[in-house]
Amino acid sequence: MKARHRQLALVGVVVAALAIAPALLGNFAVSLLNDIGIGALVALGLVLLTGVGGATSFGQAAFVGIAAYATAWLTTVHGASPWLGLLFALALTGVAALAIGLLTLRLGGHFLPLSTIAWGLSIALLFGNMDSLGRHTGMSNIPPLHVGPWSLVDARSMYYLVWTVVGLACLFSYNVLQSRTGRAIRALRGGAILLGSVGADAFRVRLMLFVMAALLAGLAGWLYAHMNRFVSPSPFDVRASIEYLLMAVAGGLGYLSGALVGSALVLILKNGLQDLLPQLTQRGGQLEGVAFAILFIVLLHQARGGLMGFVARWTRGRFAPPPEAAPDQSVEPLPHRGLPATGAPVLAVKGAVKRFGGLIAVNDVSFEVRAGEIVGLIGPNGAGKSTMFNLVTGTLAMTAGRVEFLGRDITGLAQQHIARLGIARTFQHVKLRPHMSLLDNVALGAHARGRAGLMAAGLRLDRREEAQIRAAALRELARLGLAGRAHELAGSLPLGTQRILEIARALAADPVLLVLDEPAAGLRRKEKKALAELLRKLRAEGVTILIVEHDMDFVMKLVDRLVVMTFGSKLVEGTPAAVRANTEVQTAYLGSVVEADAAVPAAAQADSVARAA
Ligand code: ADP
Ligand code: MG
Repeated sequence: MKARHRQLALVGVVVAALAIAPALLGNFAVSLLNDIGIGALVALGLVLLTGVGGATSFGQAAFVGIAAYATAWLTTVHGASPWLGLLFALALTGVAALAIGLLTLRLGGHFLPLSTIAWGLSIALLFGNMDSLGRHTGMSNIPPLHVGPWSLVDARSMYYLVWTVVGLACLFSYNVLQSRTGRAIRALRGGAILLGSVGADAFRVRLMLFVMAALLAGLAGWLYAHMNRFVSPSPFDVRASIEYLLMAVAGGLGYLSGALVGSALVLILKNGLQDLLPQLTQRGGQLEGVAFAILFIVLLHQARGGLMGFVARWTRGRFAPPPEAAPDQSVEPLPHRGLPATGAPVLAVKGAVKRFGGLIAVNDVSFEVRAGEIVGLIGPNGAGKSTMFNLVTGTLAMTAGRVEFLGRDITGLAQQHIARLGIARTFQHVKLRPHMSLLDNVALGAHARGRAGLMAAGLRLDRREEAQIRAAALRELARLGLAGRAHELAGSLPLGTQRILEIARALAADPVLLVLDEPAAGLRRKEKKALAELLRKLRAEGVTILIVEHDMDFVMKLVDRLVVMTFGSKLVEGTPAAVRANTEVQTAYLGSVVEADAAVPAAAQADSVARAA
């Protein structure tokens, strides 16, 4: 059986087992399964937000509470239909998440998780202190759900609704992760700069993910309210949030299925403990918390991947998707950008200045790059070359000066906007997502060439565009000789090959201007030759290239013009021959390098490799 069929068969078995479960189980077990389903919805949001997106939330139960109280209030106080309650609950949860996200998601490091505790606590406190929400006694007599002629009053009739919602939520989430938006979500961990460089706004992606996770919690809250037909503040406090996080961690933060497994694990264990602990001691209720804390610590120490992490290691390769061998020729290629006519001004840097505190890294540098040129930026280590690149690409804000791209002033424009105009870059210190495949890393580069959003992805309305993006990515991988490894993880590549992969990612953006920071560092002689050939070919196709490189042999043979920097300032500018002949350059920097063509570049490479590692 093929891996994909095996995967489908497994899903089929799980669905069938869930479908017949109520016929075989008693009421208590069915209720427990309902709770597991509801917990899994919240945990699913946390797998996405925390496991995939890297933002830890200790406040997820608050969103469950907002939705539960919203529908409770609307259906009891105003007698509205629970289905109207669903819309109201999701709207309120979404707006609350948007507001909280806008306020807190820019916080870095530990401040974000800490802030989730703060708003988690305050929302739970709010429920207990509002008269219209019944204060600490809560709200009762919430009407049951009706689906057509059926009234879902008991656990058995709720069961199918709960698990249908869980199933659809899993499917939606799975689809999202396989999409353009999903790639951006998966790339969130590891910083915003890479996303910006491919034209994606990391903050917006994170905000969208945060709202999506909150809406999953909101769905859970709505189901909870109409299943229990009673709400009170305590199931939505921070302790509950921690329990949801525990589910996600126990199941496996990296796996959607981890949400189901984790929810089952935690709730079954909790039930067991509630039966067992009172027999051992009078203080059973308090010990339960201790037992869970111990479990949490053990998991974090021994099994970061959770239960599904073990399962994945054990079944490695057996359920992997089938690798694509070649780009799908039947899909229409993504449209290409029109390139400017040879010789037209592409980039103009005018009096660029960058200060880091007291240090002037770039000091009043001006230069131009014209269409179809390869321009080299050279100079000793610390001359300010990478900083110059960061100014051109909007990765760093300029202290003073101006940058024009295709005649347009792009000074102060955000990184992702500049990327979208047609500047693609690589980084001196390689920025890849090691846990993503080569194909996904390169497809990330084509992010700005697609438009499908979260909804389209979840509903699989993005398949045509997604096929186009994957075909474009595979084409770039093939062009750089990496097509055969498309499904390996980027982290498994040696550093030199990672640089090549970055170039493939930059090319996938269909750039007007390609900005390469030390692309040949760490490459072997043959690879360097292939790279130089590729860059010449790109130039022939009309792509403009700005390159920083320490290997003088490589640079001198490749570029049309050189700009030499030293100590933040521009020293000279001219053809390789003119620069080579310039005595100022020779004394300042090149003298030794130009003559000793093999030995020194090797040292420079070793140096940059050491810095990158
Ligand atoms: P190059 O790429 O030419 O080797 P860089 O542009 O990386 O040089 O660095 C130029 C100078 O700016 C160096 O002295 C470096 O230490 C400093 N620098 C670079 N980035 C930063 C930063 N983010 N904060 C402070 N100083 C920096
Ligand atoms: Mg540098």
